[in-house]
Amino acid sequence: MTAARAARVVVVGAGVVGLLTALECALAGHRVTVLDRGAIPNPESSSYDQHRAIRTLVPGDPDGTRRMVGAHHRWRELETVLGTAFYRRVGVVTAWPRDRVAAVVSSAADAGVPVAELDPDDLPHLGFPAGSAGVREAQAGVLLARRVLRAAARWLAGHPAVALRPYCAVTAVEPESGRVVLAGGEVLGGDLVLVAAGPWGRGLVDHPVVLRRQTMLYLRPPERLARWWRTAPAVGGLGTDGRAWAVPPGGGTLLKISSDAVCREVAAADCADEDQSPWARRLAEAGVLPDVERYTVVAARACHYTTDPDTGGARLARVGPAVWSRAACGGTGFASAPLVAGRIVNAVTEVAA
Ligand SMILES: Cc1cc2nc3c(=O)[nH]c(=O)nc-3n(C[C@H](O)[C@H](O)[C@H](O)COP(=O)(O)OP(=O)(O)OC[C@H]3O[C@@H](n4cnc5c(N)ncnc54)[C@H](O)[C@@H]3O)c2cc1C
Repeated sequence: MTAARAARVVVVGAGVVGLLTALECALAGHRVTVLDRGAIPNPESSSYDQHRAIRTLVPGDPDGTRRMVGAHHRWRELETVLGTAFYRRVGVVTAWPRDRVAAVVSSAADAGVPVAELDPDDLPHLGFPAGSAGVREAQAGVLLARRVLRAAARWLAGHPAVALRPYCAVTAVEPESGRVVLAGGEVLGGDLVLVAAGPWGRGLVDHPVVLRRQTMLYLRPPERLARWWRTAPAVGGLGTDGRAWAVPPGGGTLLKISSDAVCREVAAADCADEDQSPWARRLAEAGVLPDVERYTVVAARACHYTTDPDTGGARLARVGPAVWSRAACGGTGFASAPLVAGRIVNAVTEVAA
């Protein structure tokens, strides 16, 4: 819906949240400036990975599930808007203790999310915890994250109401006035400012968050399993302790595994000097892939995200009359980005009315 007048929106941070918000604001008829301290998209951002899983079922949370169904729907539309295929609909399987499967399936039925039970033997090349079974969500899968970011940046660069400003570090955002101060002293203002600086946002907006670092292993499956992996789903709840996940290769990506067992709270979102190999070893030994020694390890990499100390998830907050902040980016922060974008468009529309 086009607003009564075009508002001016300033977005700090060009990760998935900043880029999708800019896109939705431009589609709604507003003028947008996107600032990033690096390139746009920025390979240093936490969004800039091969892939991110998307699923809709939040067991026991019908409202959360409904919201994620909306986000899922928007992702499908965005493939058309951006003219780029970036969603691999391979489904997502989550391993649950067998005595909890019935409750999860019933929760999905209540929310209208199609799921099916699955025996671990159906996915023989993945390590399920003892005594677990899988629940497969069909309307779920893998977003090719880098492809999303590049397509969104391309679309925004071609839009007359959007100014992309890479290599513009923001040093301060004043919540009361909405002034955005850039390194070098330039000051910007808008009808609405969104701070979407990911794990670095806490340097700009005063919000208690927990900063987490996670190591991921990127692997190439053995040739004899390449075909099997081509249609494999993303799977969570894996490994001997049920805390690991695997995102399958496909669309030019490698297989990626990680585990909450290698997720740690840290003080700073900078790990250039940290040796990832001890964490990578723990991951390889987590029991995610029964025959892990047959896989080729291509890379080990760490990535950061912040969580809300109360909920452990992502959070969007209004921190001043015209300033909003993605206060915590959370573990489902990529898949839920359309929800943030939608909420900001509503706020801008109110301002512009
Ligand atoms: C290991 C791991 C696995 C994950 N898996 C999933 C998953 O499967 N599904 C899912 O939905 N989510 C997942 N997430 C979470 C998801 O990746 C993040 O929540 C999401 O990418 C955050 O996007 P963002 O736009 O908020 O931040 P970012 O992508 O980090 O973007 C922030 C941008 O702000 C810029 N910036 C920072 N400071 C400044 C400044 N001062 N001035 C200007 N620019 C600045 C940065 O350069 C960066 O480009 C995962 C996260 C991790 C770490």
